[in-house]
Amino acid sequence: MTIVVLMGPPGAGKGTHADHLAGRLGVPVISTGDIFRAQVAARTELGRTAQRYLDAGEYVPDEVTNAMVRERLAADDTRLGFLLDGYPRTVDQAAVLDEILAAQDRSLAAAVVLQVDPEVLVHRLLRRAEIEHRSDDTEVVIRRRFQVYDDETSPLITSYAARGIHYEIDASADIDTVRVRVHEVADLLGVAAQR
Ligand code: AMP
Repeated sequence: MTIVVLMGPPGAGKGTHADHLAGRLGVPVISTGDIFRAQVAARTELGRTAQRYLDAGEYVPDEVTNAMVRERLAADDTRLGFLLDGYPRTVDQAAVLDEILAAQDRSLAAAVVLQVDPEVLVHRLLRRAEIEHRSDDTEVVIRRRFQVYDDETSPLITSYAARGIHYEIDASADIDTVRVRVHEVADLLGVAAQR
């Protein structure tokens, strides 16, 4: 049973490394960004609500995001654990996650944080914009997303560190180097989960 959150600023490589980390732990990945993008593509009501926030680099309101996650975490495939990619991102979301897990008699094992130099991040995101054409990868929106991350999400790292469940990974290096570091943390967590 391993429940892990993967954190890091936009462009830190959460999406890239989430699958490997989850694969190593044997749990599914739940990415709120992917769910929102799928809803936008499917033109659902949730997608229509979320789109303007995604396009502006703002967070989708907590009540919308929390309701979506609450429903997702009730699904059967989360029974043996899961990796959350991009959630929680606010103090309110973190409290809701703790509450959902407590109601299921479970708790968070780790918050894995990918740390990258901000200028490296802007470069990475602009390159991703050329390849993937994401509507939120323009320079103005990228800078806004960093600001929102610093204001709303960074404080969570401090509180997870105070709980002793925070694992920081230097993710400025190339993908293969970072992947090795991610595997090392996964193995640490796997060992802890068996105890
Ligand atoms: P990501 O793919 O994780 O970078 O997320 C892309 C966008 O989806 C974010 O910039 C937000 O607009 C929205 N989003 C994803 N996860 C959350 C969340 N936990 N809370 C609020 N908005 C989110």
